[in-house]
Amino acid sequence: MEAFDLSGQVSVVTGGNRGIGLGIARGLARAGAQVAIWSRAANRNQAAVAEIEDVGGPALAVSCDVTDEASVTDAMEETLAAFGHVDSLFANAGTSGVAKFPSDFDLDEWHRVVDVNLTGVFLTTRAAADHLIERGQGGSIVLTGSVVARMSLGLAPHYTASKGAVLSLGRALANRLGRHGIRVNVLSPGWVETEMAEGVISDERSAGFFMARTPLRRWGTAEDFEGPAVFLASSASQFMTGAELVVDGGISSA
Ligand code: NDP
Repeated sequence: MEAFDLSGQVSVVTGGNRGIGLGIARGLARAGAQVAIWSRAANRNQAAVAEIEDVGGPALAVSCDVTDEASVTDAMEETLAAFGHVDSLFANAGTSGVAKFPSDFDLDEWHRVVDVNLTGVFLTTRAAADHLIERGQGGSIVLTGSVVARMSLGLAPHYTASKGAVLSLGRALANRLGRHGIRVNVLSPGWVETEMAEGVISDERSAGFFMARTPLRRWGTAEDFEGPAVFLASSASQFMTGAELVVDGGISSA
């Protein structure tokens, strides 16, 4: 199991203070990585660090808004000052949006979602790639996509479009960064019990619709992302790039 060992490695997880990001961070810490979480809410960041340190080594909370270029630059500087280097980035921070179209759908609402889910991924991957190229030891970048990149499921158009773009961005970056030994893959969840999915899961009608289409007949949990995260960060996936790893209880194949 040495291939899965992340001892001595440093990982950044954006949106790591709750939900899927916290699951990813816990998995990486359990495998031996030092983890920096980049999110906005300071109290949640601190609580998450305590949780991560319970299962692993030192962790770091960095206050970061992924839509803000200067904030991302500062976050990378703070992480490098604390840990010295970065080996992997999980660009996971995301937000959802209203489903009504075209009513309720102005340009601000479009930008609110696209700025976090796509521009935020671009800004954080660019910061990580700069560092990884300069360091010259390769690395792993993982973008959190969604099964809705390939199937709309009636979700909001801007959310769906942003996740489709993340899938394409992952492939494009894999192509550009492979020569530096940097792998880029997309981790695509199905329905996972987090704050983001709460509205759908707590609504009997929508929950019934999605559950009936999920072969494993349960919602995903943050824990379901611990193993896949370790796999994608570690040398266990060393010949894998430009790929999508779908973790969805089977809904996209049903
Ligand atoms: P949550 O709403 O539970 O968590 C979102 C995380 O993103 C929080 O840590 C939040 O922290 C952070 N975040 C949001 N906006 C910003 C920002 N501007 N800058 C920095 N951090 C930000 O969502 P999930 O855990 O469910 O989702 C994580 C990822 O998984 C997202 O990309 C989502 O689209 C994707 N996904 C989720 C699915 C699900 O069913 N839950 C299904 C498919 C994909 P803070 O607010 O403190 O900044």
